[in-house]
Amino acid sequence: VRMISFDEALAHVQKHCVEGRSEQVSVEHASERILFSSFAAQVDLPPFTTSSVDGYAVQVPCARRLKIVGELPAGPAPSMTIGHPEVAVQVFTGSRLPNDTGAVVMLEDTLRDGQEIELTASPVVGDNVRRQGEEIRRGDLLLEKGKRLIPPAVALLASSGQSKCDVYKKPRVSVVETGTELRSSGEILGKGEIYAANGVALSAAARELGAEVSCYRCSDDLLETERVLAAASENADFLITSGGVSVGKHDRVREVWKNLGAQEMFWRVAIRPGRPIFFASIVSGPVIFGLPGNPVSSLVTFHLFVRPALLKYYGNRADAWERGRTSYPLIPNASVEVFERVSLQDGVLYPISQQGSHMSSGLAVANALVRIPPGSAPLPVGSRVRISHLTWTMP
Ligand code: AMP
Ligand code: MG
Repeated sequence: VRMISFDEALAHVQKHCVEGRSEQVSVEHASERILFSSFAAQVDLPPFTTSSVDGYAVQVPCARRLKIVGELPAGPAPSMTIGHPEVAVQVFTGSRLPNDTGAVVMLEDTLRDGQEIELTASPVVGDNVRRQGEEIRRGDLLLEKGKRLIPPAVALLASSGQSKCDVYKKPRVSVVETGTELRSSGEILGKGEIYAANGVALSAAARELGAEVSCYRCSDDLLETERVLAAASENADFLITSGGVSVGKHDRVREVWKNLGAQEMFWRVAIRPGRPIFFASIVSGPVIFGLPGNPVSSLVTFHLFVRPALLKYYGNRADAWERGRTSYPLIPNASVEVFERVSLQDGVLYPISQQGSHMSSGLAVANALVRIPPGSAPLPVGSRVRISHLTWTMP
């Protein structure tokens, strides 16, 4: 199989991944979901003209000394008019204002004397008045398809009187980590064994992108791998494996997928970390990502390939590669594109020392990846390069 470039590989992923379907959820449970259809306001906001302070509704112009003829608390209240420039109606934040209100004078700008007040400031038309529909008119676009329902977006839906909304179904992601050497935390390590990291790390990364995750583990045994991959494929939209896709004798994942009838789209990509990476699909089954086993490689390739696939599921939200300037010489590789972990501050990149694909400590402090295209000469200090933010969250 030919080795393809990062751009070619990503194009394959983009082509084979599709937008997800929708489901209806209650607004109460909509937080952090992605809106499937744009949303029009069902009411004006504010729904009626209201006071923004505690004080007195007056006509403008009005007298300096005013007689208080009534009180309108927030909540249901009879319609009322002020009716006269020497009259005030006591109101509160959120009170529905009399139709002839010119302004509301803040309590702090008045002196009370029995049933009368004296103004210590002159009101200007519109002071402390929130007009009906000044924020949003009924029928206006309230939230756009693809919007992540952060708390203020949920507030908008609720303020509009909405009880339900259409969101993308959570993508179902199965994570399978492979390796006979893997043990769980809490177990005692035998000689040659290590604690497994990729299952929890890839699950965490997928969950950060709103997925419903099932996590599995298998040894490098052929039959066990086949059994676990078949089970993990059921009811999954995306299947992510870690390890076992290289050229070693015990790297069985690719072979097993072929036995299971998966169609390989690519296997090796000219990138580091992550050269051995497998991408396939299976008829009426999940899209398959075979990520490398080294912990940094698996998370970096998750970022490079799985993240765009999950973002496409939510209707093509994509991360843009941005520009940055390097503060140190970047050393390219002759044949593969290097994705170096860096610290990005105000558009300038700084080096991070732990670059090994087994060194999660380097990735843990990095906040960006820089693309170093294949080449022979170092990119000098000050070069403009392409970077991708490592936020690990939804854009
Ligand atoms: P592989 O691609 O299976 O050859 O794995 C490459 C390296 O990553 C080996 O040193 C593995 O022990 C290590 N590795 C594989 N899977 C995991 C995992 N889930 N957690 C931590 N290290 C792993
Ligand atoms: Mg392995």
